[in-house]
Amino acid sequence: MPFFKPRAADCKIHFILAHRDPSGNYHPGYHRIRSSASLTGGHEVKDLIQWPRDKYLNIYVCRDAAGLAGHALMPFQADTLPQWDGIVIRHDYYCNIGTSNDFKSVVLTHEAGHFLNLFHVWGGNKVPGFYYLPVGHPNNCNYDDAVADTPPTIGWTACNLSASSCDSLPDNVQNFMDYAYCARMFTEGQKQRMHGALNSPVAGRNQLWTASNLQAAGLDGPATLCEARIGAPRTVACVGEALHFYDDSYHGALNFLWDFGDGTTSSERHPIHPYTQRGTYDVTLTVTDGTTPHPHSRGARTC
Ligand SMILES: [Zn+2]
Repeated sequence: MPFFKPRAADCKIHFILAHRDPSGNYHPGYHRIRSSASLTGGHEVKDLIQWPRDKYLNIYVCRDAAGLAGHALMPFQADTLPQWDGIVIRHDYYCNIGTSNDFKSVVLTHEAGHFLNLFHVWGGNKVPGFYYLPVGHPNNCNYDDAVADTPPTIGWTACNLSASSCDSLPDNVQNFMDYAYCARMFTEGQKQRMHGALNSPVAGRNQLWTASNLQAAGLDGPATLCEARIGAPRTVACVGEALHFYDDSYHGALNFLWDFGDGTTSSERHPIHPYTQRGTYDVTLTVTDGTTPHPHSRGARTC
């Protein structure tokens, strides 16, 4: 919306997948953990694993997220409940990959906003165990999000670009901290508030980007390619059925060469391959960072 264009901020905050684990070893930056806690996605999922929150932002991708698309404690909440710090997000709202899409990818940005101390534009934050201001309630005009350049609003679940729910100013329905799913901006005021959180010791947010902690997480220089890895949710298929292969290598792979073991190859990063003959095959992925090739093999078969 033209009214908000001058208020839209380049937040200058960059998130990078960790390259080293808390022991200093090179690491893909993610775990795959099978647990009933990841089916429900409440706070208990954080008991499964939590890397030190002064060096890492922990994100939990789950089947459900306690009935929400995602949830995250704000720094003042996490300061007294450090065991609950981190972002929980439903798998089909995680970025624009896998089961999610561009439309739903705004949810992780929204939760990162909470993690960095932003309220919803109508006030409050929806976290299991905490009081919540329901979106769209007329009384929300009486609450503030502690940011001056986001006009008062009752909050929206639909992208009503002509909304003006509390005063004469338009509602910022395209703000990441509304629920309208047409989000495309944070304001300058929200940027200042997030930078304030990143410079505050509350919940250790000011530790996340110190030079020594970036170094500990392996983020102080270019990524080092140390392992090729094939990801494949299924390795058995019928003849003619597509098998999905994923590059799970870490980190900094630039070139990909897949040999499917049936005389065919691909240079795509995440290829889909149907086998046309019945048999057992050795699938090999060779990745390079421009110089050193790293191979990894796995079996696949058709039945
Ligand atoms: Zn929220």
